[in-house]
Amino acid sequence: MSEKIVLRDDLATFLANELDITRFRDYCPNGLQVQGREPVGRIVTGVTASLALLETAREVGADAVVVHHGFFWRGEDARVIGPKHRRLKLLLGSDINLFAYHLPLDAHPVLGNNAQLGKRLGLVAESHFAEQDLGWLGRADTSVRTVGDLAAVVERALGRAPLLIGDREQSLGLVGWCTGAAQHTFGDAIAAGASVYLSGEISEQTVHLAHESGAAYLACGHHATERYGVQALGDYLADKFGLRHQFIDISNPV
Ligand SMILES: [Zn+2]
Repeated sequence: MSEKIVLRDDLATFLANELDITRFRDYCPNGLQVQGREPVGRIVTGVTASLALLETAREVGADAVVVHHGFFWRGEDARVIGPKHRRLKLLLGSDINLFAYHLPLDAHPVLGNNAQLGKRLGLVAESHFAEQDLGWLGRADTSVRTVGDLAAVVERALGRAPLLIGDREQSLGLVGWCTGAAQHTFGDAIAAGASVYLSGEISEQTVHLAHESGAAYLACGHHATERYGVQALGDYLADKFGLRHQFIDISNPV
C-alpha cells in the first residue's frame, strides 16, 4: 500500500463519527487531546499515553499517537508539572498529535476493547448490561465447559494467567465481560445472569461478592484486556486512509 496522509482535523472528525463519541458520559475528553502537525501519515497506537510510549512514538517518527488512556482525567491536578509536563513537552516539542478514546473505544461494536477481547476468547455476545451498556454478556465455545477451561483460554489468548476467584470445576453458563477496571460492574453481570464475569482489575470486595453470589470472577489484567481495541482501530485507519500504523506494547503487570 502506498503511503498517504490524512489531515489532522479530518482524522478527528472521522474518529468522532466512527466511535460516536458524543454518546458517552466519560471521565476525560475523547478525541484530539493535544494538537500537533496537520498532515498525518504515520500513526502509533498504544494502551496508555505514558512517557515510554510517547518516546517510542517520537523515535519511529509518528505524526499522531492514538491511545485508550490519554490525559486530562476528571478530578486530576490541572497543573502542568512533573510527569505531566514531561509528556506534554515531548508531544508539543515534537509536534505530535495525541488522540484518546476511552469509553467510546471500550464500547465500539467491532473495533472496541470488549468486541476484540471477546473475539480472541471465542465469546459470542448476546446482550449488554450495566451503565451505558458497557458490559457484554454471551457464551463461550461449547468445548469450554468449566470456569477453569475459560481461565485456560484466557491464559492462552493473553499470555498471562488470570486470577480466578470461585470454583474452577463450576460449569460455564452465561459469560459476562468488560475490559479494564470494571470490577464494580460484577454485581450488574450477576444480575444479568452471568455465571462468570471477567474484567481487568480486581478489588478486595470482589472476592466476597464472588463467594457469596456463587458467580466466578476472572481478573485478567487491565492492560492485557485493553491491548486489542486500539490496535484494531489503528489497523482500520491504516486501511481506510493508507496510513502507516504501528502498535507499541509497553508491558504493564496490572
Ligand atoms: Zn482502561
